[in-house]
Amino acid sequence: MAIERRFECVAGCTECCRRPGTIVITREDAARIAAHFKLSLRKFSERYTERVHGETRLKLLGPEKRCPFLGGDDEKGWCNIHAIKPIQCATYPFWPGVADNAWGWKEEKKTCPGIGRGPNHSQEWIQIQIRAASPTATGR
Ligand code: SF4
Ligand code: SF4
Repeated sequence: MAIERRFECVAGCTECCRRPGTIVITREDAARIAAHFKLSLRKFSERYTERVHGETRLKLLGPEKRCPFLGGDDEKGWCNIHAIKPIQCATYPFWPGVADNAWGWKEEKKTCPGIGRGPNHSQEWIQIQIRAASPTATGR
């Protein structure tokens, strides 16, 4: 029996952009976002990233640990770099350990209202997302 993986992001939600967690970014992510802000890679890294446990992560802001690229407020928010956002964000929630794991998918549903709604996604498509997200997997 095919596994059902329905997902559609809820407009304005941004729950996953302002909850404690980690946003791991790849070199390609950093280069792309730095170019978008017309910053050198070095300046971008100094301003927006930190190295933790061998990973490059976005520096999250304040006690709420908001992403620095999150716009709006708790009622309605948006990603200020939507078109070029990190691969970890672009592939969410189709991450290894989540989309390929019944328990992981069920757990993630508790915090992401987009899981379980919208179109069902094919296994082929999910595998492509999982492969793309793999370099940023944090073993969660
Ligand atoms: S928590 Fe889920 S529904 Fe909300 S913004 Fe993130 S991906 Fe979209
Ligand atoms: S980069 Fe955009 S999508 Fe990713 S956590 Fe930040 S605001 Fe959310």
